[in-house]
Amino acid sequence: MIPYPRGVARDERGVTAQSENFSDWYNQVVFKAEIVDRGPVRGAMVIRPYGYRMWELLQADLDRRIKETGHVNAYFPLLIPQSYLEREAEHVEGFAPELAVVTHAGGKELEEPLVVRPTSETVIGEMMSKWISSHRDLPMLLNQWANVVRWEMRPRMWLRTTEFLWQEGHTAHADEADAMRETLLALGLYASVCADVAAMPVITGEKTPGERFPGARRTYTLEAMMRDGRALQAGTAHYMGTNFAKAFGIQYAAESGELELCHTTSWGMTTRMIGGVIMTHGDDKGLILPPLLAPYQVVIVPIGRGEQAGQVLPAVRELAARLRQAGIRTHVDDRLQLSPGFKFNDWEMRGVPIRLELGPRDLAADTALMATRLGEGKTPVALEEAPARLNAELTAFQDLLLRRATEFRDQRTATTDTWDEFTAAVTVGWARAFHCGQTGCEDDIKAATAATPRVIPADGQPEQGNCVRCGQPSVYGKRLIFGRAY
Ligand SMILES: [Zn+2]
Repeated sequence: MIPYPRGVARDERGVTAQSENFSDWYNQVVFKAEIVDRGPVRGAMVIRPYGYRMWELLQADLDRRIKETGHVNAYFPLLIPQSYLEREAEHVEGFAPELAVVTHAGGKELEEPLVVRPTSETVIGEMMSKWISSHRDLPMLLNQWANVVRWEMRPRMWLRTTEFLWQEGHTAHADEADAMRETLLALGLYASVCADVAAMPVITGEKTPGERFPGARRTYTLEAMMRDGRALQAGTAHYMGTNFAKAFGIQYAAESGELELCHTTSWGMTTRMIGGVIMTHGDDKGLILPPLLAPYQVVIVPIGRGEQAGQVLPAVRELAARLRQAGIRTHVDDRLQLSPGFKFNDWEMRGVPIRLELGPRDLAADTALMATRLGEGKTPVALEEAPARLNAELTAFQDLLLRRATEFRDQRTATTDTWDEFTAAVTVGWARAFHCGQTGCEDDIKAATAATPRVIPADGQPEQGNCVRCGQPSVYGKRLIFGRAY
């Protein structure tokens, strides 16, 4: 038997219904589906193989897109001199409460404390200042895959953990226009990964000044709606202006010979995406994984117990080999001591898109029974046609998830003009509303409703109106999206 985490009982019935208590559902499903475990340090997450495979699949796709757009991967150190962070005032102020600091090493107190990186703008900025001297060195387009540490007071698996994995793009440019193009390019890469791979519809756009990254001139975001109506920030891209170039001396000689400051960007997508996938698609029975991120896209269950199931096993393995040859990630559940019913529940809970059942009678008819994680009932599939048929089913499944999530989000997003409409909308989902642009008014809305301005949508219609809270004129020229967020 596979061991289960302490305090989480294995239960054939599955998990608390999502509709009953979303938070309990989430906290049970991440452990029961064996994607994470708790680490020994508070807030630390162990990513188990099933969860790590999901991350690897997302990472491989994103890495390919990053490289295709001219970026190159490098690696920078985990430990950063504390003085580096202090060079950019807003940056250090923003990160100070979350820093883990190393004061002793090699049995001695260090002369200068070292920070475990919360992000790498500073150390990369320092290296860029060495590597860039002329306009011919620009743009410099770097990316790093790494772990970072941000001390977490209220940890939640995948979403807020003390250590997490991510990529951080860091680029330097000759001028603002080129750096802004880069920032929006990164945002576009993320939007395609969300929609095409994670089947997660997102609204892209800029953050209000109150929600900006510490040290950034402009912050862009992608916001996705989870099945409890809350927003999840799926990635961010920042235009830093010359703030970090000033702090670290990132300069280049222009064609005129004059020394100019670089304009820099940074952008990141993290393991929290996996939490987002779980909360975008899951249902009362457990996970529902988009085929492109599913460790197993198809699981084949031999039908019958013990001896009986053993007899069909060679045929099951042969079918699995043919599916794998067709590029389908296929798993054979050969735990012969367990009943098929138990296995069905188990793989449903773990979100496998398609299950095939193969018993002696199916084999005699040269068919297998197919059940999809979203469908009702079972359909016979001719064994001969199985690879082509299942590839088509997986594509359709992926598309259906995106459509379903988009419909869900649109149904739960309301255009609001009065405070009553606004508060009702953010209780179940998102509100489209005008805002005056004042940070104090944002804080007031947050205190009253727990909702924050998530994004100024890039594709929002130009429109004028008055702030939904204080009645002063809107400064954004369009409605913002408000919601409660993870
Ligand atoms: Zn206002």
